[in-house]
Amino acid sequence: MNLLIMGPPGAGKGTQAEVLVKELNITHISTGDMFRAAIKEGTEMGKKAKSFMDKGELVPDEVVIGMVKERLSQPDCKQGFLLDGFPRTVEQAKALDSTLASLDIKMDGVINIVVPLEKLMARLTGRRVCKGCGASYHVLFNPPKVEGKCNTCDGELYQRSDDNEESVGTRLKAYEDNTKPLIDYYDAKGILLNVNGDQEIKKVLADIVTALKK
Ligand SMILES: [Zn+2]
Repeated sequence: MNLLIMGPPGAGKGTQAEVLVKELNITHISTGDMFRAAIKEGTEMGKKAKSFMDKGELVPDEVVIGMVKERLSQPDCKQGFLLDGFPRTVEQAKALDSTLASLDIKMDGVINIVVPLEKLMARLTGRRVCKGCGASYHVLFNPPKVEGKCNTCDGELYQRSDDNEESVGTRLKAYEDNTKPLIDYYDAKGILLNVNGDQEIKKVLADIVTALKK
């Protein structure tokens, strides 16, 4: 089964991707890992990507899609794959479609993890960092033993400026604006699967598996 997974920051996409590839026995292709591997192995596209990164420039779409093509041509993708972190725009999605067609591969589904905005906000603004030792906590998922105090050094915990509601709100809005056309694109193709991400990891997984069977 060949899939793609999408979801806003704080939706737990990474965790979900990990459990899903195990459940379906398919290969996880995250864009970051793919970049690192292509550069390390010195593939044709990896070398190209590195030349842009060394200059501090963005890697152009045609190089990224070239890397995706190299990656999808590897034998471990024959059993199916889960693309994670790509495409991010409709242009990239169209380029991906052509690449898949050239490899005679069909995309079976696009999983879109949906979490209400206020829940994302609570998850993303909950991080607290220790002024003393830099240890990281979360008011919901990893609270300190004493509120506002570090467990190990008793230092004061504070919220980083990029974790405040305004910064997080800007990030979430940008994600939504950028992703909306992509979601519409896959919806129009009839392969979009919206999954409720506001529940336990196991339940989200079960919902994905059920949606894929339909
Ligand atoms: Zn500390």
